[in-house]
Amino acid sequence: MTRPVFRFAPSPNGQLHLGHAYSALLNRDMAREAGGRFLLRMEDIDVTRCTPELEHGVLRDLAWLGLNWEKPVRRQSNHFDDYRVALDRLIDADLVYPAFMTRGEVRARIAEFEAGGDRWRRDPDGAPVYPGEDRHMTSRERQNLFDEGTPFAWRLDMAAAIAHVGSRLDWNETGQGPEGETGLVPAKPEDWGDVVIARKEIPASYHLSVVVDDALQGITHVVRGRDLFHATAVHRVLQELLGLPVPDYHHHDLVLDNDGRKLSKSRGDTSLAALRESGATPDDITRMIGAPSSAV
Ligand code: GLU
Repeated sequence: MTRPVFRFAPSPNGQLHLGHAYSALLNRDMAREAGGRFLLRMEDIDVTRCTPELEHGVLRDLAWLGLNWEKPVRRQSNHFDDYRVALDRLIDADLVYPAFMTRGEVRARIAEFEAGGDRWRRDPDGAPVYPGEDRHMTSRERQNLFDEGTPFAWRLDMAAAIAHVGSRLDWNETGQGPEGETGLVPAKPEDWGDVVIARKEIPASYHLSVVVDDALQGITHVVRGRDLFHATAVHRVLQELLGLPVPDYHHHDLVLDNDGRKLSKSRGDTSLAALRESGATPDDITRMIGAPSSAV
């Protein structure tokens, strides 16, 4: 039997905080318990926000926590060609389209609609779904915009993708969704609308790179925060369209601050580096997050 493969996949666009420590230690412990492998992956496709210094900090924090991972570490920014191949397959199958509306245009479109009294549809993260009118552009109109150098993103034509898949998708959830979903969970990709699959300059979005990498690295168990539970529906569709294997998913509790809010890199919440500098030990971190790490 092949060994289970787990991964911790941080984005080095800020300092790691207690929530990352929880996720990393849980991955390590679940891998140990299953007699599996533990990989680390740097999700740094956003090359403007992810820096070598931040990546260095991530590696230092994880080593300080006592984690060991297999080398070499896969760094997504070194593998844009892999995502390009997957993107080209979706382009050839006519399942993605160039979306030209700017954020401001989307906002205006929605404000106009909502002025009529109805609420525009939101995705599971609370963001308005993309209007998708440019799905119906003629190839001539598209070409003109390309020629003018108008920025665009490749978006999945979700309705076409669902029709192409042809059957309802699900996944095996060994953790829990926000509503306690567990076991065989039905995927609802339609709730997301036309998600971004790639950008003009970067041939991958999070959704595309995560499914390509999980497959390329032979990941059998995805263990990550509950905030990504609903995104799994998008990942299932992409796996089906690209013929990729489906790992088990385990969405875990989020570490909340004293006000019950999710920790965030941007708010500069309790970073591991700051805690270490103020004298905390790795054992203190384990105690603070209540991770089952020392039990295994
Ligand atoms: N890179 C993502 C993050 O830092 C995690 C992706 C995943 O585990 O699927 O939130």
